Amino acid sequence: MRLFPRGEFLQRQEWLASALPAQGLDAILITHLPNIRYLTGFTGSNAFLLVEAQRITLYTDPRYTVQAAQEAVCRVVTLSGSTLIGVGKALHKRRIRRLGFERNHLSFASYDYLRGVLPVAAEFKPVANLVETRRMVKSEAELAAIRRAVETNSAAFDRALKKVRATMRESDLAAEIDYQMRKLGAEGPSFETIVAAGERAALPHARPSSNSLLSNQLLLIDMGATKDGYTSDMTRTVFVGSVSPKWKKRYGAVLEAQLAALAVIRAGVKAAQVDQAARKVLKSHGLDRAFMHSTGHGLGLEIHEAPRLGKKETAVLEAGMVLTVEPGIYLEGEGGVRIEDTVVVTPAGCQVLTPTPKDLTIV
Ligand code: ZN
Ligand code: ZN
Repeated sequence: MRLFPRGEFLQRQEWLASALPAQGLDAILITHLPNIRYLTGFTGSNAFLLVEAQRITLYTDPRYTVQAAQEAVCRVVTLSGSTLIGVGKALHKRRIRRLGFERNHLSFASYDYLRGVLPVAAEFKPVANLVETRRMVKSEAELAAIRRAVETNSAAFDRALKKVRATMRESDLAAEIDYQMRKLGAEGPSFETIVAAGERAALPHARPSSNSLLSNQLLLIDMGATKDGYTSDMTRTVFVGSVSPKWKKRYGAVLEAQLAALAVIRAGVKAAQVDQAARKVLKSHGLDRAFMHSTGHGLGLEIHEAPRLGKKETAVLEAGMVLTVEPGIYLEGEGGVRIEDTVVVTPAGCQVLTPTPKDLTIV
């Protein structure tokens, strides 16, 4: 049985083909692999997708002949030699007058080559975020996959947390987390697992180091498991051995900010309002200057998707969007706290998918 119904891919393809005239296009060349996966189901690492009004063609290389036939819900052409040159030849033959391309996902070298093979009179037009915009609102099958990813991730966190010992290296704990994800059926981590102890937690995107964990230290873990192509994202900050009154208070402030942000999420609210809610709470604790990133981001086939929950983001939330909510504070030389859940927007609020508790935890 297919995890993702065939009809869903066909609907997306019909939608894109019918969106072409409004973009002033006869066809569009999709080059971003997550967009190709979204439109066709193909999961390989090399593909171009040509979407014309009446025909959709996936171009790939012979390594993927069998896989593409199994996965892709469209016509497949396997090209020996350079796929780019093969696609160029196909485009040359097709005599398309107005061809769109994904401006954020075509290298200059590929652009230059394709422009050269198209007739001089043909338009080769940049298009931004067309498929990405549709990807913001998830289907039921996508939500189910994200739920599986979130649950796998939390289960891996529980197992890895049981192994935490003072003297363990950050990199050992990161390896344990990634191992547990795979044991639990994930394809792998959705991004490089972050394990940062003590003052290293002041780096929002710390790489696990060979430093050992110490008792009476805070420990920030940011991790996501990918399942059936869909990502998840969670941060928990726990305390090893004990927690000082100062950090207990700071943890409480971040949790209050995270709950405040969750409380304003619902369909119809602007993304910036969610960010403001978190920032306002941290400000009331004198910690707003220690919070230098946005409050969250969309996720799905990719770990960072639209919309972003940033200070100036005007995007309006819709039911079915999946977002992270992750305020944090970072104090150089001291440490940091971040608390992050993955949630789905509903008409009246949001549903927190992450089952892992957020109460202050001492391990
Ligand atoms: Zn994260
Ligand atoms: Zn995140």
